[in-house]
Amino acid sequence: MRARYKPWAADLIESHPEIIIPDPENFRGRWHEVFGNDHPLHIEAGTGKGRFIIGMAKANPEVNYIGIELFDSVIVTALERVLEEPAGVPNLRLLRVNAKDLGEYFQQGEVDRLYLNFSDPWPKTRHAKRRLTHESFLKLYETVLPSEGEIHFKTDNRGLFEYSLTSISEYGMLLKDVSLDLHANEPEWNIMTEYEEKFLKKGQPIYRLEAQFQS
Ligand code: SAM
Repeated sequence: MRARYKPWAADLIESHPEIIIPDPENFRGRWHEVFGNDHPLHIEAGTGKGRFIIGMAKANPEVNYIGIELFDSVIVTALERVLEEPAGVPNLRLLRVNAKDLGEYFQQGEVDRLYLNFSDPWPKTRHAKRRLTHESFLKLYETVLPSEGEIHFKTDNRGLFEYSLTSISEYGMLLKDVSLDLHANEPEWNIMTEYEEKFLKKGQPIYRLEAQFQS
């Protein structure tokens, strides 16, 4: 997701260090101090404009959430949405960082669940290493999740979904749930992302899986 260049985004981000944490490496192993409780921590890599992670945080106040996004111009919309919430979203923080560096921000077992939603598909074979379900990313996720931690993944992209099923299986993870059309019978707990709504309106099926690392 690339948004139009927003020259003011960096200033707004900088003026809200209580929401977009500017120095996340300093909280590695100490995120419970940031939230002021010992609730489980769920993160989303590639959070975009934040609709999913804000919705999840509001629906599940007993879980802490961190949304991770690469671009100022995109994450600034998530920040604006949090600021519009009359009571704020106390169990949510945002990081403007690259998911490939997750290990610098979280220690082993500190993240209880990882969400990937509508990750960039990188369809060319020579770009496969950039897919967030590539073996190298699974290896990385395993270093921040507990021994039987889970990844929950949604996408509209059939090619990426097929690739991910193979990558996850070859890694030795347990597939706990697979749906080839999430909205044929939408679970009441489903929170839509921006992309999910867009592709659903076009009549495209949404694919979803839950996978668990095996100790
Ligand atoms: N999850 C949102 C949704 O479903 O509406 C956004 C989907 S968008 C296709 C993918 C997002 O992931 C983009 O905003 C992109 O900037 C972000 N992204 C891609 N690679 C990333 C990485 N390595 N680290 C953090 N964010 C990343």
